[in-house]
Amino acid sequence: MSNPATTLARGSEASQPQIEEFRDLINGEQLRSVAKPFDNINPADTSDIVGRFQASTAAEAKLAVSAAAAAFERWKKTSVSARAAILNRAADRLDAQADQIAREMTREMGKALNLAKDEVLRSAQTLRFYAVEGQSLVGEVFPNDDPDMTVYTLREPLGVVSVITPWNFPISIPARKIAPALITGNTVIFKPSSDAPLSGYRLAEALVAAGLPKGVLNFITGMAGEVGPAITTAPEIRAISFTGSTTAGEQICRAVSFTTRTQMELGGKNPLIVMDDADLEKAVDLTVKGGFSLAGQACTGTSRVLVMKRVRAEFTERLVAKVRALKIGNGLTPGMDLGPLATARQLDSVLRYIAIGKQEATLLCGGERLTGAGYDGGYYVAPAIFADVTQQMTIAREEIFGPVIAIIEVESYADAIAKANDTEYGLSAAIVTRNPRVMHDFANDIQSGTVKINRTTTGNLINAPFGGLKRSSTSTFRESGRVGLEFYTQIKTVYRGC
Ligand code: NAP
Repeated sequence: MSNPATTLARGSEASQPQIEEFRDLINGEQLRSVAKPFDNINPADTSDIVGRFQASTAAEAKLAVSAAAAAFERWKKTSVSARAAILNRAADRLDAQADQIAREMTREMGKALNLAKDEVLRSAQTLRFYAVEGQSLVGEVFPNDDPDMTVYTLREPLGVVSVITPWNFPISIPARKIAPALITGNTVIFKPSSDAPLSGYRLAEALVAAGLPKGVLNFITGMAGEVGPAITTAPEIRAISFTGSTTAGEQICRAVSFTTRTQMELGGKNPLIVMDDADLEKAVDLTVKGGFSLAGQACTGTSRVLVMKRVRAEFTERLVAKVRALKIGNGLTPGMDLGPLATARQLDSVLRYIAIGKQEATLLCGGERLTGAGYDGGYYVAPAIFADVTQQMTIAREEIFGPVIAIIEVESYADAIAKANDTEYGLSAAIVTRNPRVMHDFANDIQSGTVKINRTTTGNLINAPFGGLKRSSTSTFRESGRVGLEFYTQIKTVYRGC
């Protein structure tokens, strides 16, 4: 895929030949859209264009849907070991190209290079995980009173599945959706974020190079408003696995047929509770890592810190000191703690929330756009900490998705839980305490799909289920781990007499 051959080429040649143009991959062929391509811009240095991608039309998206539908029956009948071998070969390729893909990822969305490389390697592991787990997917056998009958379940693929993903984990989120879809025999249309499509392209490239038959995985870029309806509402689409904002997820759910299965992984407003018996240095570390490591742009990022009154002043003082010392800069430079925000839209949105926060609460540090050497031309914001935050404030309620932390004082464990749960979201939540009773109660009391005790709100295992409660997810089907296979299969119950 990196040497585009124009089998279905239409439209004019790129005006800047030095910028690589990446094409859609539909039915095993490179497709150049009739529309003018769009640029993938480096948020650390907006003069750096990382690549040029297709602003595909709805008609081109329909080609992807038709190709996936046509490929389904054959792929469904392909042996599971052959499917697994493809995932394993693709994983080998990702490992081999990890340094290159990581650099591209840092350039396209800003995260630190070491985090980008971890993400590529984790994606390879995800492919391998599903190559194994998919081969041991089992049905059930049911005892019955007829000695001549066996009753059992079969798990079958759904058909054509759309995978729609955001920019913040541009290869690992697609991998954890596409791998279980493919190993269970579904065909896929994959639309990455328009703000970071290159990492997803590399994943698709690896899978195609590993031997996927034509039409089994169709990669298409383009604006959500144009491509979105074609890949979500077409009658051929049996399921949609989406990760992104709650607004977009709800919009898709409203538009699709009830026969289309949906898996929505959406926003968060994740709390971390600091109890008065906590190791405060640890609490500060967990807050900084959870709140700022991706410049606050993780769905599970720490956004609210609920601190017991007795330790609030000391915790806050230590936190501010640590945050002031963070190194902010281009993710390609080793040793940076925070990179830029990923897009101009993100920058505007985060600065708007910081302005609201200044009206509502007390800004203790950061919050300004960074300018000057190393920052001009990038979307850098100094990490911000607000104190005197109360439950009603906008910065305590809305997902900011940036390097902004709100400190909320609490009187007791019960007060902390009530405030932590007083949100429409329920993605991830953490507590820092030494008290086993509190640990136990927290796991039961918190309304959150991911519960962390003395760990950051961020981070999840490949082999464990992942998803949120309330408006953070459609919680019917979890992603990740063995249960991640369930979304992509349907059950048939067979009554076999002789
Ligand atoms: P977004 O604006 O909702 O976009 C996500 C993806 O959906 C993009 O590919 C986007 O395409 C596409 N899209 C948007 N509206 C669509 C529609 N109506 N039909 C079809 N596709 C549509 O989110 P984002 O800004 O990329 O990501 C940030 C959000 O993702 C945050 O809210 C964060 O919490 C959430 N997130 C959640 C998780 C989780 O696991 N729960 C993980 C990561 C991120 P375009 O790029 O072309 O607009």
